[in-house]
Amino acid sequence: MITSARAFRALSLLVLSLTSLLPAFATTLTLADFQAAAARNHQSLELPVYARTPDELKAQVDAAIKTADAEFAVLAAQDPAKLTFENTFAASDAIGARVGGVSRLVGTIAQSSLDAAMRNTANELSVKIDEWSIGLDYREDLYRALKTVADRQPKLGAEEQRLLDDQMRDYRRAGLALPAAERAEVEKLRKELTGLETQFGVNINEARGPIDFTAEELAGVPASFLESPGVKQPDGKYRVMANITWHAIAVGENADNPETRRKLSVARNSLAAEKNVPVLKQMVVLRAEIAHRLGYANWADYRTETRMAKTGATAVKFEEDLVKGLQPKFAAEMETLRQLKVKQTGQADAQLLAWDIGYYTNKLLKEKYAVDREALRVYFPYQATLEGMFAIYQKIFGLKFTAIEAPYVWAPGVQLYVVQDAASGVPMGAFYLDMFPREGKFNHFACFPQKSGGVLADGRYDLPVAALMCNFPVPSADKPSLLTQDNVVTLFHEFGHVMHGMLSRSRFVAQGGFTVPRDFVEAPSQMLENWAWDKAVLDTFAADYRDSTKKIPADTIAALVASRQATEGYATRRQLTYGLVDLSLHTVSAEQAAKMDIVAVTNATLARVTIAPPPDTAFVAYFGHLAGYDAGYYGYLWAKVMAIDMASTFKAAPAGFLDEKVGRRLRDEVYGVGNTRDVAVSVEKFLGRPRSQDAYLEYVGIKK
Ligand SMILES: [Zn+2]
Repeated sequence: MITSARAFRALSLLVLSLTSLLPAFATTLTLADFQAAAARNHQSLELPVYARTPDELKAQVDAAIKTADAEFAVLAAQDPAKLTFENTFAASDAIGARVGGVSRLVGTIAQSSLDAAMRNTANELSVKIDEWSIGLDYREDLYRALKTVADRQPKLGAEEQRLLDDQMRDYRRAGLALPAAERAEVEKLRKELTGLETQFGVNINEARGPIDFTAEELAGVPASFLESPGVKQPDGKYRVMANITWHAIAVGENADNPETRRKLSVARNSLAAEKNVPVLKQMVVLRAEIAHRLGYANWADYRTETRMAKTGATAVKFEEDLVKGLQPKFAAEMETLRQLKVKQTGQADAQLLAWDIGYYTNKLLKEKYAVDREALRVYFPYQATLEGMFAIYQKIFGLKFTAIEAPYVWAPGVQLYVVQDAASGVPMGAFYLDMFPREGKFNHFACFPQKSGGVLADGRYDLPVAALMCNFPVPSADKPSLLTQDNVVTLFHEFGHVMHGMLSRSRFVAQGGFTVPRDFVEAPSQMLENWAWDKAVLDTFAADYRDSTKKIPADTIAALVASRQATEGYATRRQLTYGLVDLSLHTVSAEQAAKMDIVAVTNATLARVTIAPPPDTAFVAYFGHLAGYDAGYYGYLWAKVMAIDMASTFKAAPAGFLDEKVGRRLRDEVYGVGNTRDVAVSVEKFLGRPRSQDAYLEYVGIKK
């Protein structure tokens, strides 16, 4: 995950004790040394300036907006005859980037400051910057100045042409190319759509699905669930809330009584149905109408234009190809589950129903694929895991990371590293690590870009800065921080985003590594997750913290992989169902949408791709992604399939996941070029062949 401001499309080991403990990081080098090295190479290594008080932060944001407004006004007021690419498009990128930089710091402070007042102020300021940035998209004077240059079709280099095309495309998408009256009409429809989307989400949040069961009806459900607060009722029954996901899982996966599971499934698939079916219908019609007015055949074409897929039809084809490719694995998994039902019911012709899947899957994983994940943690002490990952990324990408003393950190324990090219020693950027939980801090795992790279007015390259915010288990008195294998996967993933930020080199901030399309941005990081499942990789660092001669047994890793593969066919089909449901609603014209029975269409997709839902239900009413991720759900799998395809290139290389030649190609062809060219081109240059779903099919366990 990467956090970004909407605006520009774009505990703690103390630093001191860490440095003294770890000779590998011990360095006498200071930030000033690296800054001098950067300067010798016509670069600038400047850390962001973090405000320390709410007033300072407000002043920083106000000044950034005021300056940008003034600069944009000057830009737009230039004599049309004297407009050039440089004094319009390039200038606009640089002006926007300065506000974007401040916006990133504000976003970081909101999630990391020790001071609640700072976090609150930062949250308010984020809203302010977002609003300002939306206004910017509609500034007519700016649009005219840029259009004047675009209409002259100047002869430009590839990156410059791409910046111009993307900017004009975004204006067209915002409706600025339309005559005033038509644009006003589109604006009105958009506002209406936003209102409906908000309503759709509110209805989902407010939906409740209480069902009371007797203890007997809940046989098989863990006591931990029955004893949790609010479940047991005064009349002795137990209240299951179908809208609370962990309730639905605890009961759906464990209740032995099929009638209990059926009732829950009906309730879950009926949440918000009455209110949201009509709301969704209106949303779908409006989206088709807006797309039509902006010149697109349908909403999916409009939404995917800026992504890798580029058209709705390409996204649909991707999904349908995968549905077909997965059929043998999916059918085999369903038969395995059905056999479990046969065994349990004694009926040879037992058929699987929607509410059987979770239950028998859980049984299968417990009985056949149990892996003691807790016991694995001894192999992943935090510090050794971090250093192990660093060693691997340094090796495959040809880099050197050095911990240095930071002039300022936002919380104790935050560390700063400088990245250099290993061969030349040239600095490439810097990153902060903020790895353990604390009160008021962001509670997931993500890369927070702090500063994008780009060319400064004087021609020097301004080096990028990123921050990794994580929440790994804290060390205790008698044990170090011990990670789960899942944590290790996350670490490899998130640090991949840091690499993307450090390695991309683009003249324009709008084309940096963090700005690649949404259906691509996760792919390189998802690829790097595979490293944490590979014995050769894990053996380079994972060892029992009490006895470092003990490595993870090969059969434990094999069991982990088998457990993942056992249900991957169904799990992928489920993702495909959601993707296809989403696309089926958004690849229609306004007239078709108006006539469409959205419940019938979406339930039929579910029945075709996975399993029929209970009759007279409408799961689509509770599918929250349809507001916000609309015509975009396919992107999860799109990126994942590409990630596995890319990982297969490493797998086939002489040194596997540690292969430096393939790593260098990834650095040059994917990370290095950022968003300066079509990412589809970058991926194929890295692969050395067209993309394919074959590696993914193998990953889910289909043998060729
Ligand atoms: Zn990610």
